[in-house]
Amino acid sequence: LRETMVNNEKLHVIGQLAASLAHEIRNPLTASRGFIQLLEEIVPDHCRRYTKISRDEMDRALSIIDDYLTFAKPEAHKRKKVNLKEVLEQVTQLLSPYTLLHNVTIVLNLKEGWVEGDRDKLLQCFVNLVKNAIESMPNGGDVRISLFQKKNHVVVSIEDQGIGMTKEEILRLGTPFYSMKEKGTGLGMMVVMSLIKNMDGSINFKSEPNKGTEVKVLMNSI
Ligand code: ADP
Ligand code: MG
Repeated sequence: LRETMVNNEKLHVIGQLAASLAHEIRNPLTASRGFIQLLEEIVPDHCRRYTKISRDEMDRALSIIDDYLTFAKPEAHKRKKVNLKEVLEQVTQLLSPYTLLHNVTIVLNLKEGWVEGDRDKLLQCFVNLVKNAIESMPNGGDVRISLFQKKNHVVVSIEDQGIGMTKEEILRLGTPFYSMKEKGTGLGMMVVMSLIKNMDGSINFKSEPNKGTEVKVLMNSI
């Protein structure tokens, strides 16, 4: 019970922080993007490549903000039937350049799995989780992604053979800005945990230092 209370408190603070960050960063970025677009129309042809890259990158930054901070919006959650097998295939495809870079192979074992939820948010969650799995193996290795049915649940398991975590480290997961990585944000797990919770799912971690980690996401099957 105590753990639940601490988590709710965490989420409340995160929600407020995220909402103000989204606001403060999104506005100047949107304004700059507008002016880049104006420039694009008047610069000489050979410069248009650069304005285009600028605009694309700003769009990317904006969508990262939106993706990471959607949970902070008070809007009702869109709930639709989502084909998790398809989502996980898309995750694998999206991350293929990243796996190549890290010498990682993704091994898929996907049965059918349908849940009710927000497809974009589920995609965001699994991208974040699989990214962490990849990043946990500095010398490369396999990431296993399995999807199967267990009673009335759909289970997604993501296993790596990476650096693993201690019990204490597992307890800190989801704390904003908690990151052990040099260039980490410490936002990935925070987003995952709050989104999965909002979709009535649950998540658990099995990990051993220097052996690897298994993350299991359970959702109600439909
Ligand atoms: P970031 O990836 O930016 O560091 P996250 O919120 O995604 O932030 O993760 C927080 C921390 O949790 C990571 O820095 C890492 O220490 C730990 N972690 C998460 N997933 C794994 C994993 N699969 N294996 C080992 N450590 C992990
Ligand atoms: Mg991460």
